[in-house]
Amino acid sequence: MLLAERQIIARIRKQVRPFGPIVAGIGDDTAILRFPSNDEILVTTDLCVEDVHFRRQWHPAHVVGHRCLARGISDIAAMGGTPIAAFLSLALPAKLPQKWLDGFFEGFLALAKQFRVTLAGGDIAESPSGVTADIVVLGTAPKGTAIRRSGARPGDFVYVTGQIGGAGGALKMLLFGGKKLKAKDYPRHFYPAPRVAVGQHLRAKKIASAMIDLSDGLSTDLAHICEESAVGAEVMASAIPRARIGPGGRLVDLETALNAGEDYELLFTAPPRRKVPKSIAGVAVTLIGKITRGRKMVLIEGSKRIPLKSAGWQHFQKSK
Ligand SMILES: [Mg+2]
Repeated sequence: MLLAERQIIARIRKQVRPFGPIVAGIGDDTAILRFPSNDEILVTTDLCVEDVHFRRQWHPAHVVGHRCLARGISDIAAMGGTPIAAFLSLALPAKLPQKWLDGFFEGFLALAKQFRVTLAGGDIAESPSGVTADIVVLGTAPKGTAIRRSGARPGDFVYVTGQIGGAGGALKMLLFGGKKLKAKDYPRHFYPAPRVAVGQHLRAKKIASAMIDLSDGLSTDLAHICEESAVGAEVMASAIPRARIGPGGRLVDLETALNAGEDYELLFTAPPRRKVPKSIAGVAVTLIGKITRGRKMVLIEGSKRIPLKSAGWQHFQKSK
């Protein structure tokens, strides 16, 4: 059973010390944040719904807390920003064990600490069924420098950080493999690492012309860049850095790397004259294609040119 609301909030408050731009955090009607006048504020919001984004029998509580915050921090990373504060609203079933909630905050606050993000407010309500976590993350970037989806131009090269398909490969095993997975064997699924330092570097060095984080899958997220920039793209299948997963280090298949989401790597474009490092902040950066004038996406596999359809995750999409 859960503690009463006020006891829960007191328990969380004890674990959080506001710092940086946070003048006041939990404990007043609103938080107070003070930013340098040259900064722009980045705001992102994400919903985590039980049995849609996570399952309690698959995902330990601290994993749910980690993943919930990671999604918001990753959106700030995708703008080249610095995450500052998080606001969390939770709907919780009354019969949820307090131990589960403690575990959730353990994962959430550990990631928050790693990225110097202050949990500065939120709300708790009783849910008739299932856990829902609604997170808002605030970040900053110097005025006019945040990297948008709309900046890709024909001739720009397309890059991706890290390896992709690892989170989706593990999800497929959970969905179709019928057994639980050990979190430590599938870190890309259970503990995704937002690429904040990489995003900041790409912004500070003015390398990227457009950027997005891979939350829905390469094919869908690239389509977002193409739509916002009014361009097309060609992707070389053989160049895609596919993740290895599990204790055996199995390489995920191309379909998973193209269409599975939740890797939270960065997908960005850069003009051909820009020098793009092979690795940034210890994360590999791989050239996978280029931006084209025609507003189509094409996958190049050997000598074949195949239309690349966005087939990543979409809520309310009829199952195929
Ligand atoms: Mg995003």
